[in-house]
Amino acid sequence: MILDGKETAKALEEKLKKQIAESKKEGFIPKLAILLIGNSKPSQMYARFMMKVAENYEIRSEIYEKSEDATEDDVKKLIEELNQDNTVTGILPMMPLPKGMRAEEIIKCIDPDKDIDGLTTTNAGRLFTGKEGLFGCTPRAVMAILDYYGIQLEGKKVVVMGRSNVIGKPVAQMLLDRNATVTICHSHTKNIKEITKKADIIIVAVGRPQSLTADMVNTGAVVIDVGINRVEGVTVGDVDYEHVKEIAGDITPVPGGVGSVTTTMVIESLVKAGKQQRKK
Ligand code: NAP
Repeated sequence: MILDGKETAKALEEKLKKQIAESKKEGFIPKLAILLIGNSKPSQMYARFMMKVAENYEIRSEIYEKSEDATEDDVKKLIEELNQDNTVTGILPMMPLPKGMRAEEIIKCIDPDKDIDGLTTTNAGRLFTGKEGLFGCTPRAVMAILDYYGIQLEGKKVVVMGRSNVIGKPVAQMLLDRNATVTICHSHTKNIKEITKKADIIIVAVGRPQSLTADMVNTGAVVIDVGINRVEGVTVGDVDYEHVKEIAGDITPVPGGVGSVTTTMVIESLVKAGKQQRKK
C-alpha cells in the first residue's frame, strides 16, 4: 500500500483546525514567528510557504528577517525579543543559516517552550528522558504516518538509517518509546543489507538517493522514506522507490510522503506550545 502523506496531513488538519477554533473562543490565536536570516532562496520560499500554511489555519504568522551580513549577536537579540513577546507562540528558524553563523549558538537562545521544531538541547533532553516537550516536526511526521495507517510498532524490528540530531536519533527514540526494537545504522555500519533485510519497518533518512534498494528489503516490510533530493530537476527520496515498492508491504512516496506531513506538524507544535504557555 502507498502510505499517503497528503491524506495523513488532511486528517490531522481537520483535528487541528477544530483545536484552533476552540482556542480562539477562549480569546487565544497562536502566532508563528518565522526567522529568516540571509538570502537563501529555498529558505525564502519555505518561509513564504509557511505563511500560507498559517493563513490556511487562520492563525497569525510573521517573517522576521536579518540580512546575510547580520552578526550572531544581531540574531540573538532578535530571538530574545521574540522570546519576550507574549504574542509570539512559536519560533521557527529557517535553515541553513548564512556561512559562518553557528547554528548551535543561535538555537540555544530560543526559549524551549517556543522551540516548535524541537531544536534546543532542552527539548532533546525532554524527549530522551520521556518528559513533555516540543519535538522535531519531521520525526513526528514519520510517527504520524505510521499511526494514521495503524502500523503496529510494539515488538517490531525497526531499522533507522541515519543518526542525525534532527531526524535519525529523535525518530529512533520515538519508536523506542512505543516499544519497538530499534537498530540505528549510519555511514560506518557494516553489512547494512543484513540488518535491513531482517526489519519489519525501515526508516530511511540518509540524504542520498538509492540508499535503500530492493535487495535490502524483506518482503512485506514497511518503508518510510524521509529523504528529499533533487536529481536532474526531479525530487526523489533516499529509497529506490520503483523497485522497493514491488517488495515492500507499505511505502511512502517522495514527494507526497513524509514531507507533506512535516508542515502540519509545525502547526501541531504551535498549538501544543500555545496550550503549554496558557497553563503557565
Ligand atoms: P544528515 O544530517 O546529512 O544525516 C545523514 C545521516 O545518514 C548521517 O547520520 C549519516 O551517517 C547517515 N548515512 C550516510 N550514508 C549512509 C549509508 N550509506 N547508510 C546509512 N546511513 C548513512 O541528514 P538529515 O538532516 O538527517 O536528513 C536526511 C534526509 O532527510 C535528507 O535527504 C533531507 O533532505 C531529508 N529531510 C526531509 C525532511 C522532510 O520533511 N521530509 C525534513 C528534513 C530533512 P554519519 O552520522 O555516520 O555521517
